Amino acid sequence: MDDRLALWMPHLTGFGFAFALGACVGSFINVVAYRMPLGMSVINPPSRCPTCGRRLRLHENIPILGWAFARGRCSTCRVSISLQYPGIELLVALLFTATYWMSFVAEPSGWWGRSWAQWFQHYGLVATLPGLVAVLTLLSCLVASTLTDVRTFTIPLGVTLTATVTGVAAWALQGALATEVMAATWPLPSVSWWVAGASLGGGVAVLGANALLHTGSLTRSFADYGEFVKDGETLAEYPHARREMEHEVILLGGIIVAALVGALSLGGVQGIPPPVMQGLCAPVFGYMIGAGTVWVVRIVATWIKGVEAMGMGDVHLLGAAGACLGWIDPLAAFFIAPFSGLAWVGAAGVVKLASGKPLRRELPYGPHLAVAVVALVLCRGAFVDVGRLVFPGVIPAVRALQTPPRSGEMGALSERPEGQHTSEKGFSNEEDMDRRWMRSRRNTLDGLRQWGTEAKRDTPERERNAQDATRAGAGRSRSG
Ligand SMILES: [Zn+2]
Repeated sequence: MDDRLALWMPHLTGFGFAFALGACVGSFINVVAYRMPLGMSVINPPSRCPTCGRRLRLHENIPILGWAFARGRCSTCRVSISLQYPGIELLVALLFTATYWMSFVAEPSGWWGRSWAQWFQHYGLVATLPGLVAVLTLLSCLVASTLTDVRTFTIPLGVTLTATVTGVAAWALQGALATEVMAATWPLPSVSWWVAGASLGGGVAVLGANALLHTGSLTRSFADYGEFVKDGETLAEYPHARREMEHEVILLGGIIVAALVGALSLGGVQGIPPPVMQGLCAPVFGYMIGAGTVWVVRIVATWIKGVEAMGMGDVHLLGAAGACLGWIDPLAAFFIAPFSGLAWVGAAGVVKLASGKPLRRELPYGPHLAVAVVALVLCRGAFVDVGRLVFPGVIPAVRALQTPPRSGEMGALSERPEGQHTSEKGFSNEEDMDRRWMRSRRNTLDGLRQWGTEAKRDTPERERNAQDATRAGAGRSRSG
């Protein structure tokens, strides 16, 4: 028990700061989710009582506590204030605390921190701040998009765009600051020159398409949707869904062609893209895979059913997840989301049986995607383990895709004597695989960049030294 306390004590400030920051962000999300669908500015005017319009006093603006002090009522008009406000603040505070915990405290081989904590704990809070910002921004935007989606059946583009731009910018900065070893071990999927080319080509096409949409040279699909919405309804029976898909196929096709051109022009370059390219291209490629997957499903399903199947907001949502986490997580989330949907239907059934009232008429798909992404971020190890059981072969295949296959490298990996790197924490074979995989990525880069001889001889020592140095440098006193 004392040991555990000693492990947690140095992190109490971190937990406190993460919780407070999360509560403030949650407070801001409440404002965003209320104002953005109405087209209002999220900064001006300052927070007001939604009923009587009185401006909130300073102490009423304190997240969670402000609501508790006022006992859930406006002090002027006495109208009760929804429990949703402190609820969202508490939720985001807990999400931020959980993220801090699994990045910097959780056992790197366990369900919580797997394939993630290793990197964050290795380099410490300061060196990994851009990456952490990307993840926290994504979580915040997922909460905001869920709130607006449940209420209004739309996900404001501003919300998903914030996460996308932050993801790309933060990881690009992280790449620019990273040493080569850091770039090779970091938590995003690694990028070959083929992928880098596809990302740059596709990314330029996405920017170009948005510029054309913005200037009006390209018409948005469903541009005349509003004309079909009846008064008092949120959704319309839109008769031209199939026709609109033809527009989207052309747009998507253009982006895919641009990505292919990019891939073909850079694919022949020797070696592995430098850290800056890794940082820039991994999120862009993640965005393209995340958004592209939902977009293709949307086009095909809409074509078959004749009504809009998945919102463009869902496309942007999974794109944002890819921009902050790389290309694997959005794909996994896409397959996990239906289980969240099933759980919801089950819960609705139970509530209906118990109370005789239906839980809700309809729920959009976006919240299930968001739940799946959050679950993956917080507990990736559990999904990896379940995935290994249910779909043996998929996870090794995904990993093989990530590391560009080069001669000798995989062979060198399997020749590594067992037990050599299981010393510290006694990893089991499966966890061991994760470590070996991390190492294989590093070795690929090391070998290609003439780090080879040194790295292969004393990787464990070098890793431990670097770890000690980071800990000492960041003033962290985690003793085991
Ligand atoms: Zn009031």
